[in-house]
Amino acid sequence: MSIKVIKSSILRIEVCIRAEPNKDVQRINDMEALKTLMIGDVVPMIRPILTLRKKRIVIDVDTQKDFFLADGKACVRNHRRVLANIRRVMAWARRDQVRVISTVQCHNPNGHDGDVCLSGTPGVCKVPYTLRNRRFTFDSGDTTDFSRDLLQNNDQIILCKRSTDPFDEPRAERILTEAKASEFIVIGGSTETSVLYTVLGMLTRGKSVTVLIDAVGSSEKSAAEISLRKMKAKGAKLIESKTLLGHSSLRQVNACQCDRCRGKLRKATLSA
Ligand SMILES: [Zn+2]
Repeated sequence: MSIKVIKSSILRIEVCIRAEPNKDVQRINDMEALKTLMIGDVVPMIRPILTLRKKRIVIDVDTQKDFFLADGKACVRNHRRVLANIRRVMAWARRDQVRVISTVQCHNPNGHDGDVCLSGTPGVCKVPYTLRNRRFTFDSGDTTDFSRDLLQNNDQIILCKRSTDPFDEPRAERILTEAKASEFIVIGGSTETSVLYTVLGMLTRGKSVTVLIDAVGSSEKSAAEISLRKMKAKGAKLIESKTLLGHSSLRQVNACQCDRCRGKLRKATLSA
C-alpha cells in the first residue's frame, strides 16, 4: 500500500468536502474507505480528517447483577428484553470502538441503604458482557483527580457511587462533566432513579443525550413513563435501539440463568 494512494484519497475527500459540504454521509463513507487504507505509521498523517466523525460515548448506568438478573435483589421488569438490547449496544460499542462510561452502585453492608448492591456480594458485580477489556475502575470517594488521557487509554471507565445520582459523587461528577462527545447514549437502569438523575445531570451540563428506551430497565412502569417524559421535556432524545443498531434476531441473553432468558418458558407454554 503506497503513500501515494492515500494522498490521492485525501485529495479526493478534500475536493469532495469543498464541492459538496452538505454530503456528510458520502464524506463518512469516504473516510471509512480511507480508514481501510491506513497502515502502520501513516496513521498520524490523516488523523485530523477523522475527527470529523461523530463522537459518541455510551453511558452505561448500573448494569449490575442485583438489578438485571432474575435472582438479583431488585431485578427490573422485562429484564430479558432489556438485557438483550444492552448486549447489542455493548457489542456495537466494542465493534466501533465507542468508549463506555459506566456507573455502579456500591453500598456499605453496614450502612442504611437497603440490601441492594452491597460491596462484597455477587449482586454488586456488573453483568459480564457490559465489561470491556481495557477498563479502569474508580472507587467512590471525595477526591476528584483523574488523568487527562483516561478515555484515550481505556475503553471503559467504571465509576463507583454511593447513591443513585452519579453527580453526588465528586469524581464521577467531574468525569461526566468534562467528557466530550457529540452524543451520549444512555442504557441501564433503573429508569426512574439512576437513569433519570444521570440524564438530567448531563442535560443540565449542556450535553446531547439519547436514551435507548428499550435498553433501560425499570421497577415500576408508570414511574418510568413519567421519568422518560421528564427527560424528553428537558431535551433528551428518546429512541429505540433498532434506530441506532438496526434490527436483530437476538433473543437469548446468556448472562441470566432464568427460564425466560434461556428460552425455556416459551417452550413450556407451547407444550402445555
Ligand atoms: Zn432472566
